[in-house]
Amino acid sequence: MTGKTHFVVGANTAWIAYLLLPQDLLFIILPLIGGFAALLPDLDNRHATIHQWTKGLLRLLLIDRVRHRSLFHSLIILPVVIFVSSFLFPIHLIAPVVFVFGYASHPFIDGFNPQGCEYLYPWGRNFRLIPKFLCVDTGGWVDHLLFFMASMGIIAYLLMYSGFIRIDLMQ
Ligand SMILES: [Zn+2]
Repeated sequence: MTGKTHFVVGANTAWIAYLLLPQDLLFIILPLIGGFAALLPDLDNRHATIHQWTKGLLRLLLIDRVRHRSLFHSLIILPVVIFVSSFLFPIHLIAPVVFVFGYASHPFIDGFNPQGCEYLYPWGRNFRLIPKFLCVDTGGWVDHLLFFMASMGIIAYLLMYSGFIRIDLMQ
């Protein structure tokens, strides 16, 4: 999936805040945190913007040669992501949760790519979440559809929090 798809899908994890703390004024920050977290797994993708931006730092940390869709797209990285997310508590109570789910949304939707992800890294096997014949490449129609639906989700989120519409998820 493209970076913009990952961003908007990750941004939708801000809906978790609506389930946990419906009346919150800092709602606007959460989609940004979720969207940003969803870009992080592609630190391992030489073609991704996030990789280009952080190239120097990645080299310094000796992680600039990590295989694409391996370590950063695997379960083994989750404890690190959870640890890092804990630093977001001062910003917002739900921010760490949104960060972790935003991050996880990335390898999840990458599981619809024909190449799959190494979810069980360091085991080098690639896993897909749907049968291969249903898989689509980055930039394909599923990518566009996901981008469209997730964008609608974010528009609904912003409208709802600003009081323009009401959605009752819990009845
Ligand atoms: Zn990826």
